[in-house]
Amino acid sequence: MNKQTIESQIAELPVCDYAFIEIRDIPFREEVRYICKTECSRYGKSWSCPPAVGTVEECRERCRAYDGAFLFTTMTEVPDMEDLEGMLATRKDHEEITRRIRNLFLEECSGVLALSTESCAVCEHCTYPDAPCRFPDRMFPSVEGFGILVTGLAEQCGITFLSGGNLVTWFSLILYRE
Ligand code: SF4
Repeated sequence: MNKQTIESQIAELPVCDYAFIEIRDIPFREEVRYICKTECSRYGKSWSCPPAVGTVEECRERCRAYDGAFLFTTMTEVPDMEDLEGMLATRKDHEEITRRIRNLFLEECSGVLALSTESCAVCEHCTYPDAPCRFPDRMFPSVEGFGILVTGLAEQCGITFLSGGNLVTWFSLILYRE
């Protein structure tokens, strides 16, 4: 894989920060899964979230099948942090950038798994658990749902994510097989 080719194309996108990382450096934590289970209303409601994505150990094993990973962020200003709908609307732009970066890696690599932020929102009503995912190619599993401590990973890489005021930082993690 040619990292320079990827980096030159990423320079044209509104990506805030990024880093290439080793798979072994990704921190998987049962505590992150516990938060999904106890605090997130999307737990058990989507193919992109637990328990559909498997146990944390199974997620770790899926990630180990790749040669490397690419973490990136986008940042958006929202008028009101209390306005969940307004905040989630800004995620659409991040999801589109994730799709474009996933496609960049697909051109360079033999296999790619893209994990993005929060639960999949492609369909108004997810088919889980009654029928298979309608758009497996468009659905990005949740990075946190995999049990990944994404803020810890960002700190390890020197990626800034603590934003003040009305700034929201969105994360995605692209795993690639060369
Ligand atoms: S693409 Fe649709 S069916 Fe698949 S996980 Fe997302 S919302 Fe659910």
